[in-house]
Amino acid sequence: MTKRQDRHPRFARRLAVSVVCAMVAALVLTKAVHPQVVVHAQPTVVRQGQVVAVSIPAALLGGRPMVRFAGRTWPLYRMGSSWGTYLATDPTTKAGRYAVVVDARSDSGGSMTARTQVTVVGVVFPTRRLTFDTQHRALLTPNAAEVERKRTEAALRLLEDAQLWDGPFLLPVSGPVTSPYGVLSIYQGQVWGFHRGVDLAVPMGTPVQVANDGIVRLAEELPLSGNAVLVDHGRGVVSSYFHLAAIHVSTGDHVRKGQIIGTVGTTGLSLGPHLHWGMRVNGVHVDPLPWTRL
Ligand SMILES: [Zn+2]
Repeated sequence: MTKRQDRHPRFARRLAVSVVCAMVAALVLTKAVHPQVVVHAQPTVVRQGQVVAVSIPAALLGGRPMVRFAGRTWPLYRMGSSWGTYLATDPTTKAGRYAVVVDARSDSGGSMTARTQVTVVGVVFPTRRLTFDTQHRALLTPNAAEVERKRTEAALRLLEDAQLWDGPFLLPVSGPVTSPYGVLSIYQGQVWGFHRGVDLAVPMGTPVQVANDGIVRLAEELPLSGNAVLVDHGRGVVSSYFHLAAIHVSTGDHVRKGQIIGTVGTTGLSLGPHLHWGMRVNGVHVDPLPWTRL
């Protein structure tokens, strides 16, 4: 009995030592076969409305990695020898520290995870209260917003993966910003949402130039945005030009930075001639102005 009892702990010890050795060997082997995936984020501190560029070197990756940030996954684009994307924030992104998590597979099938952190700094956005006349008030319906959302979504369903833009984005018209990005809009006493772009006040008929190279994905009248143009710049980046008097391009047109795509007007939900210029990145409406300083 005693002998038996003695043998067991010794056996258990040997087994434990063997298991630990095997684990260490496996770890060393894993490290050798599956080098760590790395994620780079730039910048690591952003204000609400700004974007973070992330890149993941593609060497030794077996497939498309996945990036998670702020409660969702983000599409990744092949950028030479890396995978990359822009993580976008808006006034609804809560201020605080966020993990950027990459899940990837090595070319031999092992799973790898990499993490980094990004801090989103809260911005105190001003509030604007607007009262519309009967004609404009009639546009402020959930149905108009829904029609607009559906038409925009359909137009942007297929976007270009490759980067079409080159260098800083141009300001489409030069004029004073009368309503900046992020302003909380209260229409007829009701919260409508944050301002998804900048309003540039310029006279009626002023030519509007496209901010960068791209492909026109929408060129038509929308209930709230009026005569609208959406331009796909690739890699999930889309610029928008609203309330135009006239549209000079058609869906599918390839446009070059500075090309005139229409003229300033006051169509849709607008109280006077101005250009609403917006930028959306992977579906999030961001502040377009930092894109003029790339
Ligand atoms: Zn606007």
